[in-house]
Amino acid sequence: MLNDRQSHGLWERTAPPPPQTKKLAGDVAADVAIVGAGYTGLAAALHLAERGLATVVLEAAQVGSGAAGRSTGMVNAGLWMMPAVLKETLGPIYGDRMLELLRDSPRRVFHIIDKHNILCEVKRVGTIHCGTGKKGIAEIAERARQWQALGAPVHILSADETHLRTGTTAFPTSLLDLRAGTIQPLAYVRGLARVAIASGARIFTASPVEHIVREGNDWRLATEGGSARAKWVFLSTNVYTSQIFPELRGGQVVLPFFHFATMPMAPSIHRTILPEGHGAWDTRTPMTAFRRDDAGRLIIGSVGALRGTGTRIHRNWARRRIRALFPQLGDIEFEHEWYGRIGMTSDHLPRLHAPAENMIAVTGFNGRGIAPGTVFAGEIARYISGEVPLDAMFLPVSSVRNTFLRALREGYYELGAQIAHLPPAR
Ligand SMILES: Cc1cc2nc3c(=O)[nH]c(=O)nc-3n(C[C@H](O)[C@H](O)[C@H](O)COP(=O)(O)OP(=O)(O)OC[C@H]3O[C@@H](n4cnc5c(N)ncnc54)[C@H](O)[C@@H]3O)c2cc1C
Repeated sequence: MLNDRQSHGLWERTAPPPPQTKKLAGDVAADVAIVGAGYTGLAAALHLAERGLATVVLEAAQVGSGAAGRSTGMVNAGLWMMPAVLKETLGPIYGDRMLELLRDSPRRVFHIIDKHNILCEVKRVGTIHCGTGKKGIAEIAERARQWQALGAPVHILSADETHLRTGTTAFPTSLLDLRAGTIQPLAYVRGLARVAIASGARIFTASPVEHIVREGNDWRLATEGGSARAKWVFLSTNVYTSQIFPELRGGQVVLPFFHFATMPMAPSIHRTILPEGHGAWDTRTPMTAFRRDDAGRLIIGSVGALRGTGTRIHRNWARRRIRALFPQLGDIEFEHEWYGRIGMTSDHLPRLHAPAENMIAVTGFNGRGIAPGTVFAGEIARYISGEVPLDAMFLPVSSVRNTFLRALREGYYELGAQIAHLPPAR
């Protein structure tokens, strides 16, 4: 990942360096072994270490090298589905628990950032969901209605207000969610690693776990250079799962998602585009996401993989889309491009798995992993440390199983994105 702009792009360029970590060599013992150093694994490591549990994190590549270091960096307070659908799908008990946990989730991310002084370009001014077309306008109104009924600080913005806050006249309406905000995602995940280490956790990178076996009352996680022995295992590898438990990956359909970042905008233009630093996205399919970084670069993202024919198609689309949204910017060069994998589940809900005794996993963030990953990790730490039983968790435990026709669906996402991003026929 290091110096690989194709994979982590702008975030690699502007994030503070990661804390020093080594490859696992020899055998180590711990109370808990965590597999995967993204938001979820590292937030769990922090919470567990703070409780005094000996915690080891094993990461296949580098801190944040999965989806965490590639994301758009929107710290949102919900999942993709609307609150009412979430409650209907999960039922009243788990539905209420999940909504309660999520509504507070950005505040808990910002609390960790403040408490540990994590430098990650944090902006807590809210995010803006822009509505377009008849369906999109109705969706924004319904989302606002449902969240407002739950007492959430969300507001409908008029076309003028949306223009003022985003700098584009493309949207007749939008939803401002004041709970949310943006971060530099790789800087956040590296910050989590730093504070987890400072709290006593040990992190080993370049140490893919090759297999996990039961030995007496413990688990042994074997890597090429050594092994970790622990009473508990937390699998936080999500859709980047490699080598172990292929079903964790197979239970999700990969939605590729790319970003292009411009060079820093001229100050006069900079002041007109997302002037308060909001992150935004729209109701189109496939959607357009846009935000700025601290240096005034405009970052635009959408569905698609930057490989093969996709690279040129998606890059040309990004140029046209920027021209349509922000004509004041003129033609501006892209400095960075990168993409990653989002793991989608069939009902757009995450999954909690308990594949064996003293082993737990959470997957399927459906593109909403920053705040949910952070708060789910806190709950999992409470469970592992014996503070709450498994049936008090945010989700019921489900069995791991592969998604039906997964490869076909993944091909459909990428092909569909390329077709949608072709220039309109004249
Ligand atoms: C392009 C993009 C944009 C996104 N935008 C947003 C956004 O704006 N807001 C938001 O909330 N979410 C967003 N997401 C989703 C979010 O990034 C993910 O949900 C989140 O990163 C999941 O965190 P995680 O820690 O569970 O997994 P990951 O961050 O994917 O980390 C998993 C780690 O496990 C490691 N691993 C895998 N197998 C092994 C093994 N055998 N041994 C050791 N380590 C292993 C991987 O190397 C990886 O580092 C986006 C995702 C992408 C790809």
